[in-house]
Amino acid sequence: MCGIVGAVAERDVVPVLIEGLRRLEYRGYDSAGVAVIDDNNNIGLCRAVGKVAELDEKLEQNPLKGQIGVAHTRWATHGGVTEANAHPHLSGGRVAVIHNGIIENFQPIKDEMLAEGYVFDSDTDTEVAAHLVHHYLNEGLDLVAAVGKAVDRFEGAYALLVVDADDPERIVVSRVASPLVIGLGDGENFVASGVPALLPVTQRFIYLEQGDLAEIRRDGVRIVDADGNEVEREIHETEWN
Ligand code: GLU
Repeated sequence: MCGIVGAVAERDVVPVLIEGLRRLEYRGYDSAGVAVIDDNNNIGLCRAVGKVAELDEKLEQNPLKGQIGVAHTRWATHGGVTEANAHPHLSGGRVAVIHNGIIENFQPIKDEMLAEGYVFDSDTDTEVAAHLVHHYLNEGLDLVAAVGKAVDRFEGAYALLVVDADDPERIVVSRVASPLVIGLGDGENFVASGVPALLPVTQRFIYLEQGDLAEIRRDGVRIVDADGNEVEREIHETEWN
């Protein structure tokens, strides 16, 4: 189990994402990556095998900037430790996905996506999530519905974050077994696999429960539980820093 960070804000989120990854390094990982959506609605992607410091060095050479993005530290389960297998994974130039955990039934879904003409750039189980969400968006579903329909098909344990460059106002997240916590800011919101990742930016947290699907925007969050009902979850204030 490794690290996930997501942010949607008015400021450039890249420094928040990288600092968040640094604060999750203690969990162990083998590679790291970040994707942000820029002002022209393009996805910028940077990934590196090794430490977050190596990712940061690459970003210094080729800076990324954006007000919404996701970042990941990977502990490989499916596919070797390579840059191509590092997250985020993209589909159709518009969907970016990060994932901790395992999608146990990825193979039949991968076969289905291959038959539809999707090209896989990695050996991960995760990449099926990117293509499946893209497939449902193409069917006309919005991002929340597309992620909901995709995760309904997954078996396994996972925390998943998805952004869509054609809908750059929200991060859609889902969790089964793997932890996810939402960090509430002032006109900006965050999500991560652990509280420490977000302590530089907020002290107000909502812990997502098993099977929750959430939409995180700058101006608020909406959570739907495992039964499909919209729910309010308690906000926890922490004194940690
Ligand atoms: N199963 C995914 C992979 O191998 C995610 C592993 C993780 O939790 O980082 O890429």
